Amino acid sequence: MKQIIQLPAAVIAQIAAGQVVERPVSIVKELVENSLDADARNITIKVTEGGKEKISISDDGHGMSADDLALAIQAHTTNKIKTTQDLLAINTLGFRGEALYSITQAADLIIQSRTSSQSMGTKIVLRNGIVTAQSPVGMSAGTTILIENIFNALPARKKFLKSTNIEFQLLLESVTQLALAHPKVGFQLFHNNQLVLDILPHTNFTERVTAAFGKSIESLFLPLSLEVSDYKIYGFLGTPQAATTVSQSQFLIVNNRPVVSPKISKVIRRLFKTLLPPGIQPPFILYLELHPESIDVNIHPQKREVRFNEEELLLQVLQTLIRQTLEKANLIFSMTDLESLTLNDSKMDEGTAKILRDATQIWNVKEFFEEEPVMQINNLYLIAQTTEGMLVIDQHAAHERILYEQFLETFTAQKSNKVALIKFIKIALPVLESQLLEDNREVFEKLGFVFTKISSTEFSFSQIPELLHTRKLEQYILEVLRDIKDQVEVAELDLESHRTIAYLACRGAIKAGEVLTPQERKNIVSKLLLTTSKYTCPHGRPVLIHITPIDLAKMFYRIPAFRNEK
Ligand code: ADP
Ligand code: MG
Repeated sequence: MKQIIQLPAAVIAQIAAGQVVERPVSIVKELVENSLDADARNITIKVTEGGKEKISISDDGHGMSADDLALAIQAHTTNKIKTTQDLLAINTLGFRGEALYSITQAADLIIQSRTSSQSMGTKIVLRNGIVTAQSPVGMSAGTTILIENIFNALPARKKFLKSTNIEFQLLLESVTQLALAHPKVGFQLFHNNQLVLDILPHTNFTERVTAAFGKSIESLFLPLSLEVSDYKIYGFLGTPQAATTVSQSQFLIVNNRPVVSPKISKVIRRLFKTLLPPGIQPPFILYLELHPESIDVNIHPQKREVRFNEEELLLQVLQTLIRQTLEKANLIFSMTDLESLTLNDSKMDEGTAKILRDATQIWNVKEFFEEEPVMQINNLYLIAQTTEGMLVIDQHAAHERILYEQFLETFTAQKSNKVALIKFIKIALPVLESQLLEDNREVFEKLGFVFTKISSTEFSFSQIPELLHTRKLEQYILEVLRDIKDQVEVAELDLESHRTIAYLACRGAIKAGEVLTPQERKNIVSKLLLTTSKYTCPHGRPVLIHITPIDLAKMFYRIPAFRNEK
C-alpha cells in the first residue's frame, strides 16, 4: 500500500489545467470567449497545424492595464463575478477565472494588452507558467495573445492530439459556433496563413449562417421561429437532404452561449424518425433566448453543457415547433377538398381504405402534371414530369411510405382504432412504473387504452389500440412508462410501435418487379406527394429523387447556355 500524500500545488494546477484545456480548440474557445467578454468588435484567430503548433488571437476589446494583466494570469482571478449570488445569473461567457491561468500551465504565452485610456500597452512573456519578461509596448487598444509550445508541459494531452485535419475541424466548428452566437462581432480565422472563415461584424443571423455554411442553407434548411412570454426560439432546421451534405452540424446557442444538449438533440432526432437512416443526425442551428436565471451554466468545466430549470416545458415547446416546421416544410402543396383524390388501391380492402381516407390529409399537388402519363422503368422506378423537372420514384419504397403514414395517422388520430379484448389482459408492473401509469392515465386513455387498477402494482386491460394487438402489452406499457420517466418526449408513439407499423407497411406495399397499370402509377405518385415525409421510406432509404432543369442542364453541359437563355 502506498502512503497518502497531499498533492504538490504544481501537480494540482496541472490536473486542473488539463480539465480546462483538453486540445487546441479548448484554448481557442476560452480565448475567444475572453475577447467576447471584453466587448471586442473584431476577433482574428490565426492557427498553424490545426492549432497544435501556434495559436494567436487578437481583439479590439477593452484590454487590460499592466496591473490587471498581472492578476489575470493568476489562478481564480476574474472581473466577471464577485459573489456566489452572481453565479445565479451569469451573463458573461467566462466566470471561473481559470482559463488564462490553465493555459499558462499548458503552453508558453506572449500576451499584449492595452486599454483605451492608456497610451502604451503591456507585454508579458510566460514560459512554463512563469513570467520571464515584461515591458511596455506600442499597440492599439485591445489584446493579443500568442501561444506556442502547446502542451509541452502536459505530455499526456500532447500524446492524444489527433491529426492536423481533425484538430482543425474541431476548431473551425467551435469558432463557427461562437460566430453564430455573436452576430455583432466580426470573426476571421486563418489556418496556415489561409483565410478560412471571414464573418463581418453586424450581420444578421441568416447572413452569418450563409457565410458559415454557404448558399445551400437556402434550399436545404427550413427557417423556424417562435416567441412566447419566456422564450425566444429561432434558427434553421436541416432537411433530410442536408444531413448527407453537412454531417455533424448541430449548433445550439443558448443566450449567446454555444452549448450541447444531448436531450435536445435526442428530441429532434426522434421527430425526424424515419426521415433519416439510422445513425445520421439532422443538422440544426437553433437559437434559444431565455431568462439567465432559468439556466445553470456552471455544471461543466468547459461550460459546454447547460441545465434548464424548466427543461420538460422547454422540450415540449421545442418539440411542437420542430414538428410543425417539418410538417409545413412542403411549401409547394396546399390543402384542398376531398374529391380531388381517389384512394382506390386495388391491394386495399374497403374497410381499411375508408379509415385511411378519413385519416389522411388531402393535399392538392400543384406541381405534378396529373394528366401526363407516369412511366415505369424496369418494373421498379416511376418517372413523373413536374413543372420543375422530373421525379424518379422507387415504387416499393414509395408505396411503403404511403402505407406507413396512413397507418400512423390512423394510430395517432385514434380513429376507430380501439379493439376490445376478448380476454382481459392482466399485467404487473414495478412500483414506480405502476405509479407512473396511474399519473398518466389520461394520456393512455387518449391512446386508446382502457384499464382498471386491481392492486397497487397490477392492472387489467380491457381495450387496446388496434395496431398493437399483436404486441406484448406488458413490454409496451413498460417502454412507454420508461419514456415518461426519462422525460424524453411525451410518448404518443414508442419506437416499437414504429417498427411494427413499418413492418405492416412493408408487407402491404407493392414489390419491386410488379407491373403497374398507368392508373396505379399515377396513384402512387399523387399519394406519395401527399405524405408528410415523402423523401425516405420507413427504413430511411430515399423514395424520391427530384431532378431539376438545372441538374439536367449540368448533365448535358448546357449550363452556360442555360444561363443565357434565361
Ligand atoms: P474568466 O474569463 O473566467 O474571468 P480567464 O482566466 O479566462 O477567466 O480570464 C481572467 C480575466 O482576464 C478575465 O476575467 C478578464 O478580466 C481578463 N481578460 C482575459 N482575456 C481578456 C481579453 N482578451 N481582454 C480583456 N480582458 C481579458
Ligand atoms: Mg475566460
